[in-house]
Amino acid sequence: MPLVSLRQLLDEAAKKNYGVGAFNVNDMEQIQAIMEAADETKSPVIIQASRGARSYAQDNYLYHLMLAANELYPHIPLVMHQDHGNSFETCVSAIKLGFTSVMMDGSLKADGKTPTSFEENVDVTRRVVEYAHERGVSVEGEIGVLGGIEDGHGAGGTGLEHVTDPDQAVEFAERTGVDALALAIGTSHGAYKFSKKPDGSVLKMDLLIEIHKRLPHTHLVMHGSSSVPKELQDIVNQYGGKLKETWGVPVEEIQLGIKNGVRKINVDTDNRLAITGAIRKVFAETPEKFDPRDYLKPAREAMKKVVAERMVQFGQAGHAGDYQPIPISEMAKKYAVGELVTK
Ligand SMILES: [Zn+2]
Repeated sequence: MPLVSLRQLLDEAAKKNYGVGAFNVNDMEQIQAIMEAADETKSPVIIQASRGARSYAQDNYLYHLMLAANELYPHIPLVMHQDHGNSFETCVSAIKLGFTSVMMDGSLKADGKTPTSFEENVDVTRRVVEYAHERGVSVEGEIGVLGGIEDGHGAGGTGLEHVTDPDQAVEFAERTGVDALALAIGTSHGAYKFSKKPDGSVLKMDLLIEIHKRLPHTHLVMHGSSSVPKELQDIVNQYGGKLKETWGVPVEEIQLGIKNGVRKINVDTDNRLAITGAIRKVFAETPEKFDPRDYLKPAREAMKKVVAERMVQFGQAGHAGDYQPIPISEMAKKYAVGELVTK
């Protein structure tokens, strides 16, 4: 099975009203954890790499690890997605490497910190869409500015400073032709999202529902959507970690989003916590061990458990075999004849 495009994967998810987790990776063990979870739950998957991940793992290692995943699990539809591309050039380099989907985060300037104007965002995103669609690659844009900082990328803040304006979301989707659209509805990147359990009003779910009504054919994306479960925080802290108490996005709010057009849900922090907790436990309980496999194996297993749980909660479980992948070259033809217009 060739790597599939985000567009096809999310179109299929929309037909059956489920969401698909997009999990971040930096290394082999994380890719293995996701693929094992996908295999076990029979889920289509999105694996994504940030700019930080690409520089940490190096493009060639990362790309060939993804190809290995695809070879080992030919029955799993697999999207390779660039998370938070900061410029036209970053997106082009991802596409040249073989990514089947890119996010152009034009909500921030290329420094990854300073919010842009609406026109700047439209301009850079539209250029990426033109380049990507000619090659059959999907594009996710962002309107509004998310809170927090991760991998040095982000405007900081709580995520409520620049929530998405519905009129702008509609104009942005129409003028850029993006396949998927990330919204700022009060979520933020990193582990410290909320100082108490957030409800639907804190998360501006009403805004998301309104935008979905006005843009029913644009797949919506929730970023910063780790749930930061207390059990995972507790394991880290029980074995010597020092996490402050924090709350993430409750799974039931994500499920409400999925009922209202959310098709891609980005999760990273939960996996980081699972890995770190598992490694700390081995270090604390058996300090005599020094073979990296003694702690990387349980770390991989802990991440797999979280990913498999999310796959079931988001509804993607059981859908891996629903459709045949469309090669990227065929997707390019579909874009060219206007078959995939979302307006
Ligand atoms: Zn994000």
